[in-house]
Amino acid sequence: MTTTEEERPRTVLVVVAHPDDAEFGCGGAIAAWAREGWEVTLVICTDGASGGPDDATDVGPEARQRISQVRKAEQQAAAAVLGIKEVVFLDFPDGLLLPTLELRREIVRQIRRTRAYRVVCQSPERVWTPNYSLGRFHPDHLAAGEATIAAVYPAAQNGWDFPELLAEGLAPSRVRELYVMGAPHLNHAVDVSETFETKLAALRCHVSQLGEDQSELAERLRTWSRERGEAFGLPLAETFHRAEN
Ligand SMILES: [Zn+2]
Repeated sequence: MTTTEEERPRTVLVVVAHPDDAEFGCGGAIAAWAREGWEVTLVICTDGASGGPDDATDVGPEARQRISQVRKAEQQAAAAVLGIKEVVFLDFPDGLLLPTLELRREIVRQIRRTRAYRVVCQSPERVWTPNYSLGRFHPDHLAAGEATIAAVYPAAQNGWDFPELLAEGLAPSRVRELYVMGAPHLNHAVDVSETFETKLAALRCHVSQLGEDQSELAERLRTWSRERGEAFGLPLAETFHRAEN
């Protein structure tokens, strides 16, 4: 039996550099899509091992592994809050991510495996307009965005790219929608009025990064979501550059 495009499952693949990136950038949208019946898979490109305190003196392999494990557990808990079906850790070294062909291949692998209809990623470009914090310029974020966009087109849908994946039985799969967070041009908003509290609950799972008291952060995010929504006539929104394929 062949599966037509109409019968194709509603699947979303979210690809980000670190644990907590997805909650910040698109946690409300993920929760909204999950409620609508979309099946969401989250791919974390790095191992999160550089996410300890900036002033730490023990930054050796054991400390790194400990942090990585804590952050992965926090990410699993946050994913459960949002309704994400599966979290995949690609385990590239945190802080050293580059848009290599190896990273692109691993993302193609996940797109083909999940037959993702919609892919969400970080922006590979720096945006210099006001209200963008330096956190958005993390080189891992830029690298994850670059590799994901390159994976979406054409490699995911072109069997000639990464023939070793075809040999493994991973057939080409065409992504139909790309959502880029924090892009220079934002043309699409997702209403997160109903899921904003769920986003905050998911962020509260990331205690190692955000601490126990996140009330100030919550207010900042609420203001940010309100501002994003204004241009689209929505009370609270997360915004993207959306492209069809
Ligand atoms: Zn990050």
